[in-house]
Amino acid sequence: MKLDTKAMRHLTAEDWRVLTAAEIGSKNHEVIPTPLIESIAKLRGGASRVHKSISALAKVGLIARLKEAKYDGYRLTYGGMDYLALHTYASRREVYSVGNRIGVGKESDILVVADESGTQRVLKIHRLGRISFRTVKANRDYLRKRQGGSWMYLSRLAAEKEFAFMKALKSEGFPVPEPLGQNRHTVLMQFVDAFPLRQISEVPDPAALYADLIAMILRLARHGLIHGDFNEFNILIKEEREEPEPSTESKQSDGIEGKKEGKLTVTPIIIDFPQMVSMDHQNAEMYFDRDVNCIKRFFERRFHFVSTQPGPFFKDAKKTVGKDGAQRLDAAVEASGFSKKALKDLEAAIREQQAERGEQAGSEDDHDTSSMDEDEDDEDDDENSDGNEDEGRKSRVDRPIIGMDALSISEKT
Ligand code: ADP
Ligand code: MG
Repeated sequence: MKLDTKAMRHLTAEDWRVLTAAEIGSKNHEVIPTPLIESIAKLRGGASRVHKSISALAKVGLIARLKEAKYDGYRLTYGGMDYLALHTYASRREVYSVGNRIGVGKESDILVVADESGTQRVLKIHRLGRISFRTVKANRDYLRKRQGGSWMYLSRLAAEKEFAFMKALKSEGFPVPEPLGQNRHTVLMQFVDAFPLRQISEVPDPAALYADLIAMILRLARHGLIHGDFNEFNILIKEEREEPEPSTESKQSDGIEGKKEGKLTVTPIIIDFPQMVSMDHQNAEMYFDRDVNCIKRFFERRFHFVSTQPGPFFKDAKKTVGKDGAQRLDAAVEASGFSKKALKDLEAAIREQQAERGEQAGSEDDHDTSSMDEDEDDEDDDENSDGNEDEGRKSRVDRPIIGMDALSISEKT
């Protein structure tokens, strides 16, 4: 599902109002009866005004007509939710324009957006339920199976949980993108100019990077947390060259390569938090071991690096929870308004989705992004194929960023 903002600038203030009404109605109705939309929207022009907006919205796919239901009505689509979220960010002046999709994650779309000053940010749009949607899309019955707009509820929950953890981790000084905003099923965050570890073919010192990543797992554990999907897609690697030594010919003291270019440092940045679990979770040990093994396996395959040390082991990590003054972030986040039921629902949905893509996180190392992309239903996958990629290295982005579409909605409503 691709977000196309083109239709956005043609929506009138009334259309936005009707779209909002559809969203409100969807809280209690899987299929929102047209009269309910009318009564929530309360447009001055009355029913005919509302109908005009309804057809405009349906035409661009922001709401969808349901004829099979007991009564005629509409449901809000993912596209409609996307628009409402963007509209909110635009009115808060947090997003001004929308650029390319830079990644299709397992359960999300990742877009580059920009604020008014042109500073790039990342908008992560959660799409729980999307794969189910895809696999059964030939079957028009899918809507009946997906109860009560559960995808909407779950995707929003995923975004809220991710934002809460990102904030908590950032405030403890973890290397994560800066969280900038959250709305509906989306999270707005800092754009990290880095490559996923998945795309890195060599690093100067695999042992050091491995040690950093294991230390990160242990540091999370001290704060009561397990990432739960600590794999090569969710670790971004920032590569930076130190200032080169002033080129005095005599400087050859330690014979380190790259004297001319300066030393390359690699810093891992961790992303993707909706599935994080507490060290007290009933399956904590399984999640912990899975994260550790994921890193071990990747380093072995990619860098032919095998640590001489066994572990780390869950039982040792467990003893360190809350030690050395480490604040328990699991408790902090859980205390911040997520109900137990909500967190259970989300966990189940993520598990279901992982099972559906036939891949236990990290257990399969040769899934690549392109295969995840394959069954995307993009009819027109963008005009910009004249790849002006950075020479010699894989592009950070799926496609080069080519200009941004201004949302031009801020003046309305
Ligand atoms: P999912 O939950 O769907 O796996 P992720 O949060 O892992 O989504 O993001 C998917 C991909 O998008 C990442 O592998 C990374 O390439 C890119 N990405 C995500 N967040 C950022 C960011 N803040 N800056 C740069 N790239 C990002
Ligand atoms: Mg991910």
